[in-house]
Amino acid sequence: LRERDMAEHGGRRWQLVLISSPLQGHMTPMLQLGSYLQSKGFSIIFAHSELNPPDPSNHPDFIFLPLPDNLSGTGIFSGINQFLKALNENCRPHLEKHLIQMINTQKETSEKESIVIIYDSLMFFAGNLAGDLGLPSIILRSSCAAFLPSYWIIPQLHQEGRFPEMIPEFHPFRYKDLPFIGLPIQEVLDLIAMINPKIPPSAFICNTLECLEQSTLTQIRHHYQVPIFTIGPLHKTSPTPSTSFLEEDTSCIPWLDKQSPKSVIYVSLGSLATIDAKIATEMAWGIANSNQPFIWVVRPGSVHGCDWIEFLPEDMVSEMKVRGMIVKWAPQKDVLAHSAVGGFWSHCGWNSTLESVCEGVPMLCQPFSIDQMMNARYLSYVWKMGLEMVVEREEIESAIRRVLMSKEGEEMRRRAMEIEEQVRVAVTHGGSSRNSMNDLVEFILSL
Ligand code: UDP
Repeated sequence: LRERDMAEHGGRRWQLVLISSPLQGHMTPMLQLGSYLQSKGFSIIFAHSELNPPDPSNHPDFIFLPLPDNLSGTGIFSGINQFLKALNENCRPHLEKHLIQMINTQKETSEKESIVIIYDSLMFFAGNLAGDLGLPSIILRSSCAAFLPSYWIIPQLHQEGRFPEMIPEFHPFRYKDLPFIGLPIQEVLDLIAMINPKIPPSAFICNTLECLEQSTLTQIRHHYQVPIFTIGPLHKTSPTPSTSFLEEDTSCIPWLDKQSPKSVIYVSLGSLATIDAKIATEMAWGIANSNQPFIWVVRPGSVHGCDWIEFLPEDMVSEMKVRGMIVKWAPQKDVLAHSAVGGFWSHCGWNSTLESVCEGVPMLCQPFSIDQMMNARYLSYVWKMGLEMVVEREEIESAIRRVLMSKEGEEMRRRAMEIEEQVRVAVTHGGSSRNSMNDLVEFILSL
């Protein structure tokens, strides 16, 4: 294909510079996108911060470009605004130098080469840099598409002093579903001003599907007037080897093999959420009292003041281990695809949401922040395959039973399987995501 494209385009070569953010849920889709584009004949330069680097051995054909980030001590928990500001300021100089070198080499060798920047929305410096250097840029959005309208809806609501329970211009979302609710409003407005692209990109790539977010996508297309490619879910349209920062505990798969179909509740709150020991203890009691087999991911450091599961009394750990597994990090996609898993209790990160949707697994929703409330709203109110829950032991116990064992749970599973089927159609030949991937390639070649 590379040769064909090069021939068709007068021997021109395309160098795609992908700029990834250091968050697990953002880097994974960027690596998947890179793999797809590389399979289509594009050269991939994968730029990333030194914090949370990807494993180059999984992508031998990429050129990796580490960007010194000087982030020691500035974790995301120091505050998202400070973290993103430092990340963007510190990563810019090295990338700028590299891109200027690429442009100069091109001029010197008079090579017919196009450079296109594809950047994670959190690495907004790359959009400004591309604009300064006259390079085309495309944004990869790794959260739900509905996140984008909040860039203009939140400032507008704030300006008008409106805080409606239901937002008429943003159906089906409520004020409380909006991203970053809970942070001081000025911080939210500053954050939006910082990440909202100053220079309009040539296009957006969204890790979503037309069938999941149709009305929002119409709204976004109308607002931005640039192509929006909906090529998700990337873990299906362009699967890659594991991209986990933490080591996956694969011992849960043979354990799952021994469980009855649809009997296991899988519990994971993703790569970033942290909780108090009190909440973690409620979770433990809820899981234990439900009497259902479980896999519970407790990420090291995710419970305040604990390295891992010290918040649990030892006798409770031994008792829980009779019926389930507590692991530090799971091979989540394989777990969700396993026939023994009947429900996913999740923080509703977008990747986790898509991964569950793709396997037809109903969800228990415990959103924390960012886009998670929107995803939970989709799951419970629109797609009707998720249950919003209160994290309190009796509520948890009953919610697990409702999902795994009740008529209501059966209905949720039926809905989940219907959506799984729609996704399957979208990702196969002639489906909307497949078509969008082809369109994306043509679009890049036209830049
Ligand atoms: N994940 C995993 N093992 C775990 C927990 C999570 O592989 O034990 C993966 C999960 O499959 C998903 C990603 O980590 O791809 C989490 O991304 P998501 O957008 O759901 O949430 P975030 O971590 O960004 O809050």
